[in-house]
Amino acid sequence: MDRASVRAIKRIGCAFLFLFLSLSVFSAILSVHFIDVGQGDAILIQTPDGKNILIDGGPVEAFPTLDDYLRSQGVEVLEIVIATHPHADHIGGLSKIFAEYPVARVYMPRVSHTTVLYRNLLLAVREAGLKIQTARMDMDVTVEEGILFRLLGPVRDDYEELNNHSVVIYLAFQEVSFLFMGDAETDAEADLMKRKLIPDADVLKVAHHGSRSSTSEAFLKKVEPTYAVISCGKNNDYGHPHASVLKRLRLYAREVFRTDRNGALLFETNGVALRISDKDGWLVLPSSFPSESEGGLYIGNRKSKIFHVPSCDFLPDEKNRVYFSSVEEALNEGFRPCGLCRPLAREGKASGGNYPK
Ligand SMILES: [Zn+2]
Ligand SMILES: [Zn+2]
Repeated sequence: MDRASVRAIKRIGCAFLFLFLSLSVFSAILSVHFIDVGQGDAILIQTPDGKNILIDGGPVEAFPTLDDYLRSQGVEVLEIVIATHPHADHIGGLSKIFAEYPVARVYMPRVSHTTVLYRNLLLAVREAGLKIQTARMDMDVTVEEGILFRLLGPVRDDYEELNNHSVVIYLAFQEVSFLFMGDAETDAEADLMKRKLIPDADVLKVAHHGSRSSTSEAFLKKVEPTYAVISCGKNNDYGHPHASVLKRLRLYAREVFRTDRNGALLFETNGVALRISDKDGWLVLPSSFPSESEGGLYIGNRKSKIFHVPSCDFLPDEKNRVYFSSVEEALNEGFRPCGLCRPLAREGKASGGNYPK
């Protein structure tokens, strides 16, 4: 073999390596599912390496829903289970989780409760051969490289209100972050803020189902969430979420999603952009999100009825966007192709562009 061919082979090798690296970067997706368990919380996190983390298990009667959901997402093993606090709408389904899924690690706050549900949970953990690890303030939990999973609270273990013992969790994957507040109330928020433990976050799991005993204005000012999620049941007995909290959230967050209206909500991020969907389809789909797996992606302007490829310089405001997976779909909906980016000529091409910050 002559020198030129050796060089050519090396070059091709480099190109393949580069392609492989960029593909593996793009396919690294972190998913956060806010499962619709009615009045309660159950959140599934799936890491880029395929680890599953469950925060709370909803009320006991929602276990079949939770179980079906986990199985539909291919969950067979749970790396971490967190019981944020011992209330029934958070731990009800967890005993069965420990009975039916292998779990590697379990975290709970240092607080006990007198209910049968709580006692059963402790028994189920013991029967699974696990030892509960105490969730403490400002404690990093190892998940995998590239994922920051930090327990921010509970700050104290002498609160009177059980909700304030909630494990508060900060999750970050590159530039995108989530803050899960459990049912923490304003006392816990204040303690966290006093210790400068409240970060800003892109997505806020609103505390205590949107109750007015949580989510103070000072807290929201600190978090400045782009999106807020409320996990609550339809027509629940508590009147959650409270109108005053919704009003505050709308002031600080770009959008507020609710499991009682949206059903299960799925947030997916590649570490830079964030896309959000519910059972009916996309709620937020930024143009920079890799869309190879879905084939085409086209963005229409619901006002002008013109559609574009995601890399077009003339995309509509996010609030006016509608998304299509094919040119046919857009045309069928009565949209016309943009004359600049010419979607018809580029059918099937992958997208590019930058996520609008
Ligand atoms: Zn609670
Ligand atoms: Zn609750």
